[in-house]
Amino acid sequence: MDNHQILEHFKTLIPEDRLITDKESLIPYSVDRFLKFPDVFGVQTRPLPLALIKAENTQEVSGILSFCNENGIIVIPRTGASSIEGGLEVIDERTIVLDGTLMNKILDIDTYNMQVTAQCGVILEELEQILRPMGYTTGHSPQSKPLAQIGGLVATFSTGQFSTLYGGIEDMLVGCEAVFPNGQICRIKNFPRRAAGPDIRSIIIGNEGALCYVTEATLKLFRYIPDNIHICSWVLHEGDMKTGFEILREVMAEGYKPSMTRLYDKEDGQYYFSHFCEGNPVLIFMTEGPKSISDATYHAIEEIVAKYPVYKRVDNALIEQWYAKLNWDPKKIEEERVEIKETHNVGFTTEIAANWSIVHDIYQVCVNRVKAEVPDLTLMGGHASHCYSNGTNIYFMYYYDVVDCSPEDEIKKYHEPINQIIVEETLRLGGSMCHHHGVGKHRTRWIREEYGTSWYMLKALKEKFDPNNIMNRGTVWPADYLEY
Ligand SMILES: Cc1cc2nc3c(=O)[nH]c(=O)nc-3n(C[C@H](O)[C@H](O)[C@H](O)COP(=O)(O)OP(=O)(O)OC[C@H]3O[C@@H](n4cnc5c(N)ncnc54)[C@H](O)[C@@H]3O)c2cc1C
Repeated sequence: MDNHQILEHFKTLIPEDRLITDKESLIPYSVDRFLKFPDVFGVQTRPLPLALIKAENTQEVSGILSFCNENGIIVIPRTGASSIEGGLEVIDERTIVLDGTLMNKILDIDTYNMQVTAQCGVILEELEQILRPMGYTTGHSPQSKPLAQIGGLVATFSTGQFSTLYGGIEDMLVGCEAVFPNGQICRIKNFPRRAAGPDIRSIIIGNEGALCYVTEATLKLFRYIPDNIHICSWVLHEGDMKTGFEILREVMAEGYKPSMTRLYDKEDGQYYFSHFCEGNPVLIFMTEGPKSISDATYHAIEEIVAKYPVYKRVDNALIEQWYAKLNWDPKKIEEERVEIKETHNVGFTTEIAANWSIVHDIYQVCVNRVKAEVPDLTLMGGHASHCYSNGTNIYFMYYYDVVDCSPEDEIKKYHEPINQIIVEETLRLGGSMCHHHGVGKHRTRWIREEYGTSWYMLKALKEKFDPNNIMNRGTVWPADYLEY
């Protein structure tokens, strides 16, 4: 089938007003925020898709996927478009972008069984704005909450600012509906737990649109009781990230579950806290939940911190101000675009996970190497923001001036070398190269090393569920993954 015949066939599957083919409209649908620098300067570096299709229901998704599967057309699922690892990038023009934003109904809020069911295009913040006045929350609060939608949140293995208490999406998802490339619609029913074979939710969570299309999800509900929230925060002594990690470890190892845990280094902290941190690391906790539990967790944290050398306690109002500005929305993205255009200074992140015993070494080695090897840096730092009994993440944050280099070459000159240092050092020291942003198309070259002997299992999933390699080709699994 040639491109014209393909588009004609799509007209038999969906109304024409939901089949977008004009080139101007397709430009933003060829990339995500990985290529924000060329994008800001109007440089298009990726092929345009054949079409953007806005699906309205599961049956349509099924029909479109099976047609694409039979005709070798690549499908890129898309919802909130807040992806930052290239998961939405088009790599071949024989591609359609399958947009789920019109599937935006909240289907059921079941406060007796403490679960909520929503279609893939529901924006998380809008869901929370309905739940919270009722006294409930999903507990999910990624910084992209005003942008990200349920389908993308499930597909990317997302996690949120309160993950230390509520967990990541893998702890929240109790059931879902997804469509596979042959058109097969699969519903995983909602259950509190089941021991009937492997947990097949894991085939869907984190697939990044490269195995199936998520159309609906049911998430757990928790009580939302803002009056019980406590904040406590300290500035540490100069450069003393080690003490910060030790405090976080002790809080977690002793069995406490604050909702938020954050440890910012000097550089990353300077970005937010320069008016009070005096160039030192900052440690932040929040606790919430039933009053007795939140109070007990708060007091236990104070007792633990009292055992360590810290520089000073921080006024809660300063942390409240920081938190109020943390989340991203379309306005902030527009402001960032203007700033990049004016300054040619651009910032990115790379996040990794590691056990307590190696996390400080990974942090230190990566910061030192990036500073020594990458030119034109204006900031290189990081923070830990998601804690577990056995370890934490590091969210490396870096900014650089783009100097003597075209917008097309920015990624090659700066972003790739930084990513490479962080990923390779993390893998060498025994951590995981990716904590929550997903693999996208830009960390696939290390996927085999990330998985080791279990690559056999990951490869088999792609072979079985997407034998024609049409689902978001080149994402998570390299485009030529069979040769790996
Ligand atoms: C400023 C900012 C802050 C962020 N903060 C966080 C954070 O705190 N925690 C976090 O985890 N992430 C964060 N992210 C990353 C991003 O927001 C998440 O990955 C989010 O889950 C993506 O959801 P989305 O709806 O925007 O998906 P999209 O960007 O549309 O897609 C993301 C990926 O999922 C696939 N996909 C999308 N919809 C579907 C579907 N229905 N079925 C199958 N596959 C699908 C896409 O193909 C793509 O590979 C942040 C991003 C930004 C820009």
